[in-house]
Amino acid sequence: MNSFNIPAAITEIVSKLKEHGFSTWVVGGAIRNYFLHRHITDWDLSTQATPGEMMQIFPYANASGADFGCVLLPSEIGTIQITTLREESAYKDHRRPHHIVFTKDIVKDLMRRDFTCNAIAFDMIKQRWIDPLGGQKDIQNQLIRAVRNPQLRLQEDALRILRAIRFVSELGFSLAPDLKTAMVQSSQDIAYLSKERIYAEWKRIVSGEHVEVALQILRDIRLTDLLPVQIPAIVDVKNVVPIFWLRMVALFAHDFSKLLESSPRNWIDFGVPKKYWHWIRAMSELLYIPPPLSDEQRYAWVSWARTIDDQKAMIHTTAVLGRTDIEEYLKHFYQLYPDLDFHRLPMTTTEMLHLAGIKKGPKAGQFLQSLYQWVANQPSKVTPAQIEKWIKARYTYRV
Ligand code: ATP
Ligand code: MG
Repeated sequence: MNSFNIPAAITEIVSKLKEHGFSTWVVGGAIRNYFLHRHITDWDLSTQATPGEMMQIFPYANASGADFGCVLLPSEIGTIQITTLREESAYKDHRRPHHIVFTKDIVKDLMRRDFTCNAIAFDMIKQRWIDPLGGQKDIQNQLIRAVRNPQLRLQEDALRILRAIRFVSELGFSLAPDLKTAMVQSSQDIAYLSKERIYAEWKRIVSGEHVEVALQILRDIRLTDLLPVQIPAIVDVKNVVPIFWLRMVALFAHDFSKLLESSPRNWIDFGVPKKYWHWIRAMSELLYIPPPLSDEQRYAWVSWARTIDDQKAMIHTTAVLGRTDIEEYLKHFYQLYPDLDFHRLPMTTTEMLHLAGIKKGPKAGQFLQSLYQWVANQPSKVTPAQIEKWIKARYTYRV
């Protein structure tokens, strides 16, 4: 077996621990990605050293996870997670071990992991693979198989259900039949997990290349209400750029009412950034209005669009969802105002309409059109005070 390209930062950590008498192995996603010829970004190490011993060797490390045997080490390739070898112990609440038992034995540590594709270790010093559960073979066969008894694995920690679906979505693997049966049996234990942990996996499930297969599994195991909303039955997401919030828009494009039923508070409680929630909501609302949009709706939309990080991806998404009119509006808009740089507008449409005392309707479209014309002709960025002066001179006193 050939070895893989291990960054110098990792080699240094492993050698340093070895100098102090502790063996250390590369584990986790890096190994999986190596066998799949995928780019490796995240390095996980497992070591014989306890957190206390690691802190003596690396005093600058972050020991906030020491109770779980985990130390975070800053390095030139990002933060590296080093975990003390652990053996199987009893779990509580379907989400965490009752207590942690450290070990010096890498095989015992691999036996307490979730799936065989994640239970392989590489010994860099001896250049040797440790694969007691046939993980390499399962990776070759693109199979997610539980480490030993799937029912027990999922009862111990319900997050593993979501992790399995995340690996399906990201890697296109299939679930071993006994794992899928166990997932049906344990799916309701997800309720024991914290919202943040659910969201972290959900984000990756929705953003994966094989999202549709993953969503079908969620339906098969009757887990369609992971977030504060039910996932609608009809979905057309795989052609949408794998950006979380755009994929969420696609999910609700056919059933916007589902999105309206949920409150922003619930989404934010799950850890969905407020900005994403607003974008999902605003764009879904736009797509809900049948074409053609009124002048006001177009201008309001275009000025909202300027706040979006990835405009190209957004336009692409609207087109995938059957709304090519949106791209046309934007093109037309830029033809009208070729010099308009939206970053020169320091206010939102709502704020400007409010200042002008104009309510929604055709008048709002005319107002925004002349305001953009004026902004486009300004040599430099306009300030909120200048906008206010411009508006007041023309509108407020006539209301
Ligand atoms: P990625 O880095 O892409 O998220 P990963 O498999 O490395 O994937 P991590 O969360 O970094 O996932 O975890 C590293 C390793 O720790 C996993 O490969 C697995 O062996 C083990 N692991 C992580 N979470 C669990 C869990 N809930 N139950 C059992 N083992 C786990
Ligand atoms: Mg990892």
